[in-house]
Amino acid sequence: MRSESNNLNHKLTGLSDLRESLSDTSYELASLKYALDEAAIVAITDIKGTITYVNKKFCEISKYSPEELIGQNHRIINSGFHPKEFFRKMYRTIGNGKVWRAQIRNRAKDGSIYWVDTTIVPLTNREGKLTRYLAIRFDISEQKKTEEELIKALLDVEQSNSELEQFAYIASHDLQEPLRMIGSYSQLLTRRYKGQLDAKADQYISYITEGVERMQTLIMDLLQYSRTATNKEDLKPVDLNTVMEEVLTDLKVAVEGSHAQIKAGSLPTLKASHTQLRQLFQNLIGNAIKFRGNEAPVIEVRANEEVEQWLFSIKDNGIGIDPEFSERIFMIFQRLNDRDQYPGTGIGLAVCKKIVERHGGKIWIESEAGKGSDFLFTIPKKR
Ligand code: ADP
Repeated sequence: MRSESNNLNHKLTGLSDLRESLSDTSYELASLKYALDEAAIVAITDIKGTITYVNKKFCEISKYSPEELIGQNHRIINSGFHPKEFFRKMYRTIGNGKVWRAQIRNRAKDGSIYWVDTTIVPLTNREGKLTRYLAIRFDISEQKKTEEELIKALLDVEQSNSELEQFAYIASHDLQEPLRMIGSYSQLLTRRYKGQLDAKADQYISYITEGVERMQTLIMDLLQYSRTATNKEDLKPVDLNTVMEEVLTDLKVAVEGSHAQIKAGSLPTLKASHTQLRQLFQNLIGNAIKFRGNEAPVIEVRANEEVEQWLFSIKDNGIGIDPEFSERIFMIFQRLNDRDQYPGTGIGLAVCKKIVERHGGKIWIESEAGKGSDFLFTIPKKR
């Protein structure tokens, strides 16, 4: 630090000595060059690309001495990473007198790799004729390393997610067969031996049958969930007003049975998966009817246009949930209520979350126990 500042003082004193003989402009230029050399990796080439000047930072990062670099072409530090077209484009741009900017992967003398953010500025003489190229670079190796690690971590997560989805699919598919066997033999037991064994035996058999039925539902739900995860249906424009009409037809019995009042505002047309959005609305409206309180359900479906996304809200006047559970309910097979009072397996909201996330959005709940629930989700306009 001390020697650097001594160096600076020395240079600046040297420069100020020259002040008399140099014009103000030349003095300022010399100072600017000093500042540039302190901050960046600098090189100058002639118009053929032959290096005529390199600063200290260039030598430090490339591990070549100035003598080894001057008279050479930048190919000396080429890592072979970028296609030929990349550099052809660079020469075309700077050859036309335009500034070129890119991130370049280079190889140092000892074989180590470094990344530089590079700006090449074509320099002209008074007549406007191209004379040299000035390349200003910044070391971005650390940033690139973090970027690469992040991409790798993302790929790993995607890989393990798809393995898990695959596992859930295979497991649920393969479990169906032995379960079917248990189911049919317990039915056979009921048919053949009901009343012939003691009352306890009859009860045990009925528990087995019930258990099998529940397990079958769980497996079907798991299958449905893993299908949602793997479904790669094309995204097409979907009119959500039509989706609402379809959902209301499907839920007709539940709506009439509960005297539910459903108020839907005007909804947009979105590029999305029709099947999945129908499922999303159906699950949320179905829940709003199912988890009703003592009063008939009043459900409001709204869409709000924001700058970059649509914000949807499905609000009910039902039993609500304690905010403590607002994350848990979106997990697979997590439920808060008694099965006898509110039937279900706890897959619906997990499917909703998967669907919304597949469309690039987020889903959450705003609610208080006993005060109704507002399910909100976003769908970005552009993806
Ligand atoms: P299921 O409906 O099969 O229980 P869901 O995944 O759809 O499964 O919902 C999970 C849990 O979230 C429900 O068991 C319930 O406790 C809570 N829940 C969902 N929707 C509502 C709602 N509209 N009002 C109150 N609680 C709700």
